[in-house]
Amino acid sequence: MSHHHGHGCQQGSATVDYPQTNYGTGAKWIKHLTQGRLGTFNGGHYADVNLSQVLYHHRVDDSAYIKLQVWSAPGRSKPSFAEAMKQKFKPAKKGDEFGPSWTNHWWKVSVTLPAYWDQYEVVQFEFDPDCEAMIFTTDGTPLQGITGGWGGDRRVEFILPSEARKARKFDFVIESSCNGMFGVPWNGDTIEHPDMNRRFRLASADLVVLNQDAWQLLWDFSTLREISESLPGNTSLQNKALVTANAIMNTLDKDDLGSIDRSRKLAEAVFGEGWADKGDKIYEEGPDEASIWGIGHCHIDTAWLWPYQVTQQKVARSWSTQVDLMERYPEHRFTCSQAQQYKWLEQLYPPLFERVKAQVLAGRFHLVGGSWVENDSNMPSGEALARQFIFGQRYFESRFGMRCETAWLPDSFGLTGALPQLIRQAGMKYFFTQKLSWNNINTFPHSTFNWVGIDGTQVLCHMTPVDTYTAQATVGDVNKGVTNHKNLESSDISLLVFGNGDGGGGPLAKMLENLRRIRAAANNSREIPPVNMGHSVDEFFDVVAKKSDAGKALPNWNGELYLEFHRGTYTSHGSIKKGNRKSEVLLRDVEYLATLASLYKWHNPDYVYPNERINDCWEKVLLNQFHDVLPGSAIGMVYEDAEKLYAEVRKEGAQLIEDAWTTLFPTSYPLSNVAALKKRGSLVGFNTTHLPRRDVVKVPLGAGAANLKAQVVQASKDGSYGYALMDCSEGGPIATPTGLFADCMPVSVFTNGSGHFVLRNSSVQLTISEGRISSLVDVELGRELLTPGQTGGLVIFNDRPNYWDAWDVEIHHLETVHPLEFSNISVVAEGPLRASVKSEFKYRQSTITVTISLDAITASMKKDSRSLFIFDAVVDWHERHEFLKFELPLNLHNDVATYETQFGHVQRPTHNNTTWDMAKFEVCGHKYADLSEFGYGVAILSESKYGFSCRGNVLRISLLRAATAPDENQDQGMHEFSWAVMPHVGHFLESDVPQAAQLFNSPLPTRFVAGDGTKSPMLHVGPAFAVEGARNVFLETVKRGLDDKFESKGGDVSVVLRIYEAFGGHAQAWLKIAKHIPVSKIFATNLLEDHEAELSFLDSEDHAHHAVKLNFHGFEVKTIKLVLGRSDIQASSEGADHWITIDKPSFV
Ligand SMILES: [Zn+2]
Repeated sequence: MSHHHGHGCQQGSATVDYPQTNYGTGAKWIKHLTQGRLGTFNGGHYADVNLSQVLYHHRVDDSAYIKLQVWSAPGRSKPSFAEAMKQKFKPAKKGDEFGPSWTNHWWKVSVTLPAYWDQYEVVQFEFDPDCEAMIFTTDGTPLQGITGGWGGDRRVEFILPSEARKARKFDFVIESSCNGMFGVPWNGDTIEHPDMNRRFRLASADLVVLNQDAWQLLWDFSTLREISESLPGNTSLQNKALVTANAIMNTLDKDDLGSIDRSRKLAEAVFGEGWADKGDKIYEEGPDEASIWGIGHCHIDTAWLWPYQVTQQKVARSWSTQVDLMERYPEHRFTCSQAQQYKWLEQLYPPLFERVKAQVLAGRFHLVGGSWVENDSNMPSGEALARQFIFGQRYFESRFGMRCETAWLPDSFGLTGALPQLIRQAGMKYFFTQKLSWNNINTFPHSTFNWVGIDGTQVLCHMTPVDTYTAQATVGDVNKGVTNHKNLESSDISLLVFGNGDGGGGPLAKMLENLRRIRAAANNSREIPPVNMGHSVDEFFDVVAKKSDAGKALPNWNGELYLEFHRGTYTSHGSIKKGNRKSEVLLRDVEYLATLASLYKWHNPDYVYPNERINDCWEKVLLNQFHDVLPGSAIGMVYEDAEKLYAEVRKEGAQLIEDAWTTLFPTSYPLSNVAALKKRGSLVGFNTTHLPRRDVVKVPLGAGAANLKAQVVQASKDGSYGYALMDCSEGGPIATPTGLFADCMPVSVFTNGSGHFVLRNSSVQLTISEGRISSLVDVELGRELLTPGQTGGLVIFNDRPNYWDAWDVEIHHLETVHPLEFSNISVVAEGPLRASVKSEFKYRQSTITVTISLDAITASMKKDSRSLFIFDAVVDWHERHEFLKFELPLNLHNDVATYETQFGHVQRPTHNNTTWDMAKFEVCGHKYADLSEFGYGVAILSESKYGFSCRGNVLRISLLRAATAPDENQDQGMHEFSWAVMPHVGHFLESDVPQAAQLFNSPLPTRFVAGDGTKSPMLHVGPAFAVEGARNVFLETVKRGLDDKFESKGGDVSVVLRIYEAFGGHAQAWLKIAKHIPVSKIFATNLLEDHEAELSFLDSEDHAHHAVKLNFHGFEVKTIKLVLGRSDIQASSEGADHWITIDKPSFV
């Protein structure tokens, strides 16, 4: 070694003349003091002598140069550009105040430039209204967003177009809006409710000329400082950066502008000689393979601490800013998700939409996610998740001619194991997420992995090691992409998703400048990871896939990505949960009925499938599934909007059902139409599920409804209503009223008159004693289902999470359990069809009414099915920071409980063995939660709640919370909701729990059909579509095809069915299609209805059906498209004899 070294020296440059003597002190530094010094280079206490003094050549703000006029829109109105321009403006000036919160103010700005500014290449207008704003041309094209105030997202500069600079005159328009990036939180604590009366001062409306070199030096210096401060350990690059930054501090002299250039020259020691002139070409030098892939992004919450209409402005501001930025930085790429935001832009800002579209087509503005919004993924139904992708992908395809390849849910509060299959079926194979870095118990072990869903489908998943989707593009961020990567052994690249979110407008110019410098440094040193730019997220994943041998080298994660945080969001804001579930069920009924009406057209030959109206309803439901709306974590204003949307869906859905019914039955009336009930006619139920069923339906019986009285089995004491038993036990669409069958189990209720009540039939029995459920018995088996000595009922927990109030219920809430007692109990129905007791009592400020009912029928038509106990609650809720649940201590034992998830179920531990098990103390479920052991189980069914838990043997459903941030009145007031307790013979897997839960959530749509209606062929025709041969296969959706042309006679006529396996095992099922449906072809498709395979079909044995055999694996979702033929007949036929050749009942 020494030999070679010596040899090398002789060959190299001349030896240094090392001095003989040294009387100096040497150059050893005190490193941390030098480090500390860097903070004084710009601004702060030394602003009058440091770099701050040379950042601007000129600044003017007087009226000779700047003329401002303003018009304030009334109230919280948000007029369009055109409307605003018609108003009368009045003079305004810097320093004026505007407000209150959420108001919009329009400015007309005229600037005149001094002649001596001709020498400058760049002149800026600096506008700081202390809130958000947007700059428009005078003809209404948005140019860029403004974020006022002094946050890290400050963006107040607008570079005047060069023509304007040359003309020394420019007119433009600004809209300022009185809210910040995070709305207007009370007292400045981000998650506090809004301060509705905040005012904002126009802090700046100045013309400025920047010293461009000084700004470049500022960015040089901050990169050097970041390198010195955030690279770990003691490395040569880190020291070199500190030495260089220190030398710059010694060189810069505010009175000698030449010192700026000299300082910048010093920075080349780290960035390389002449690096700055290379511009974006810096990314073409150095290492061939980058470790960090930079992509600009702006995570815009579709509503959160501000309402939807403010989001529309945020989108326009942010995206215009990015379009402007990509024109100045050729390497810049920007990606944004959420088709809904693109649609808003298209509707509200058409000129900007065209600019964005041009950048999309040019490959710089990237579509991502493929979904309608970045939805919550815990609570939407399987079909709703499918629609998120269908509506998203179809929108992107229709407007830009392309679909997304990468699903994108970085901020959703946990991700269902149903997603991988749906992502693949929506034409994507990659998935980006991030939120699990917020886990507050366990650290998620992977960054890049195969995510395998409940059915075995995988997607390639990247969870950025940078731990954020709003990175600031610092050296620390870039470095974390490597140091925090948990799978470097199998994949060594990371995504850097950078840019301010929400009102922050995405990446700032300084971030792009920083990344150029970081890359320049990496081109000269291996101590900093090389970052690249100019690529898409899809390309990043392509490289991961390729380098990992198509994922074979990566670890797998099976099942849900459970977020160990924000567990209160399954319950917060009961109204939004209920609106979501009811709308999902309503739209399924609407689509099914409208599909049949559009095929049969018996009583309205002009009926057209109301495709647009159904889609409008879906868009509203999908919008409210946004990841801060459905979880209940938004401000109160958002819920006012969401309730309106649900009310519109309810109204429209009811009308669409009315239209479909009158097409299928000429004269039918809703049961609410009491006057119509006096006519001669019959109750008719329309079964929109695929399941045979019996239902107890409450029917109003007023005076004159004698005819109806004969159709009910049981009337109320005062005769004002009765209960009919509707039978559809043979399957098919039509349920009719009937008397008690021999296999029904008449119910009864006993009381000893002093707080002891027993609801009973020959199937099950429930006892309330001293206000608590003291016994639950399977009568047929004589088996007690509650643990001896324990009781069930309502319970209250103190609910004070550590910070995120509406989001979190924390594990310590379980330490304070207060059982409530049902009191003031009375018998309200005595059987034989329904027996009910009602308890009405006060708890502190709240009134709780619970009616417990038992019917003479079983939960489903499965042979050994038991009866349900239905709990109907009406709660006037006025508590704060308390959590209401219902619990049952079951005499059952299992390590896991089962909860419904989208298109399947998920099992979670009931014990606290490990911290991973403990973390799941509150979990999300859909229509059921179940605790089973060999031979028996008990489920709780839910029709509008999503929070459950099973700890040990205690199964709970979460009912109401009461957070005060960010909505200070969350859940205050009236609530109506129901749940059911369902004992069942056999383990869950052998049970009818999923069927019963489906029926419990789908009340039988029942109408009164009068007069000619009783002759409707609908009453006599069998089911159009049925799934047989496998009880684990569910027909979820019946709708018309996405590509059908409804208004014209040409094109495909098709019906699309969504069918899935609900228990987690293989199945061979037959899809049967009634012969009168003229099927010409049948295709298996993906969610987007792309044909994947043509299926052969045959005559069924009964010759009444076409039959298709379908093979499923566990939790598989299939989409089947039936293409109907005989359009030739369609053109020639008329009236009730429409083109579908039905098997006409003889009497028609
Ligand atoms: Zn978010």
